[in-house]
Amino acid sequence: LQDRLGSILSNLTGRGALSEKDVSAALREVRRALIEADVALEVVRGFTERVREKAVGAEVLRSVKPGQMVVKIVHDELVEMLGSEGETIDLNAPAPVVIMMAGLQGSGKTTTTGKIAKRLTEKQGKKVLMASLDTRRPAAQEQLRQLGEQTGIATLPIVEGQSPVEIAERAVQAGRLGGHDVVILDTAGRTHIDEPLMVEMADIARASNPHETLLVADSLTGQDAVNLAKSFNERIPVTGIVLTRMDGDGRGGAALSMRAVTGKPIKLIGTGEKMDALEEFHPKRIADRILGMGDIVSLVEKAAENIDAEKAAAMAKKMQEGKFDLNDLADQIRQMQKMGGMGGIMGMMPGMGKMKDQMAAAGLDDSIFKRQLAIISSMTPHERAHPEILKHSRKKRIAAGSGTNAAEINKLLKMHRQMADMMKAMKGKKGGGLMGKMMG
Ligand code: GDP
Ligand code: MG
Repeated sequence: LQDRLGSILSNLTGRGALSEKDVSAALREVRRALIEADVALEVVRGFTERVREKAVGAEVLRSVKPGQMVVKIVHDELVEMLGSEGETIDLNAPAPVVIMMAGLQGSGKTTTTGKIAKRLTEKQGKKVLMASLDTRRPAAQEQLRQLGEQTGIATLPIVEGQSPVEIAERAVQAGRLGGHDVVILDTAGRTHIDEPLMVEMADIARASNPHETLLVADSLTGQDAVNLAKSFNERIPVTGIVLTRMDGDGRGGAALSMRAVTGKPIKLIGTGEKMDALEEFHPKRIADRILGMGDIVSLVEKAAENIDAEKAAAMAKKMQEGKFDLNDLADQIRQMQKMGGMGGIMGMMPGMGKMKDQMAAAGLDDSIFKRQLAIISSMTPHERAHPEILKHSRKKRIAAGSGTNAAEINKLLKMHRQMADMMKAMKGKKGGGLMGKMMG
């Protein structure tokens, strides 16, 4: 029976591993897609190499073609690289919190200054002061004053003849005296990166000590994104990136380039000229857009869901038959990791409080999932199926193999025994027991 179930489970997941050839063929398509999306060449190169290492040997889900599997792996890697969801502007500093906007001319600094000010005012109830440090372009300061009038947000009174650094100092001072929570400094750009611009940015940063320095970049920047990001990031303390013109038809490859080069989070995206066209950054959406292969990605996700469901049903059946070995425990742990860890999964199920306590008592929390899995994978298949044979010498070997110790192995085995006992106890009861429900 054990073997039969074993083969059912492996059939569910397997049609073999991805070969070098599968991966290379798929990556040629992926590379083309990334370049079309305007991801910088050097970033494309590094990225595809990393994906190659991950993908070769990875398992292909049943009903999915190897190339599709690679696309899904690429997509997941993209999401991971693009960074975490819900990065926002950090205002955690003594008032007035200074936000400095930096970027090339026309990238959307002034517009974004107005958008951020409006958002902080309306959504977070902050008192914001905006100041234009753009003394280069005639009427630039006037442009911000008008934006202030239009949105009802205070702007620093214009004083002719002051340098950007002087204006920055005056703005911080006015912010302090006026009881403002936030002061946003809108700087002047240049049409291209040059030394005077970098010196000016560094001087302003030194004079105003910004808590956030946002690099504003046009998402259509394309191949220049890397140089842009590098130059600014080296000279001023960039804390985040704002990508503008995401409402255009560009696929937003600059997001990946800039993130890869600076390692700084993309905090916001601009999606239009209006003052409320500012959105949070969602890595998955941007990954879909950059890769342009959303159909394939959802197909593979669907296949993975189906397999999870089938696996769960097979597992529930196995449990009802009173079988629960360490392979099953490993599957359970992996499943829990997927579902947001212990708290997430237990919280969703009525009546699981006791088991949660037991697991906590056995020392199983999210942080040691990895160690538990390492222990199980250091066992032989026979040991996993028959944990009762694990005596001192085998435990010693497993501890060495998994970088753990005998005490941790004993804890794991105890937890497994308790779970197996619980399942046996449930077996007699009506309705397949809690675990049946949990898995179904
Ligand atoms: P700055 O030179 O960096 O201050 O750039 P501006 O804020 O003056 O913006 C230059 C132009 O880009 C203006 O016409 C803006 O309306 C436009 N713009 C800025 N952000 C966006 C955006 O997210 N989408 C679109 N479509 N236009 C934008
Ligand atoms: Mg401007």
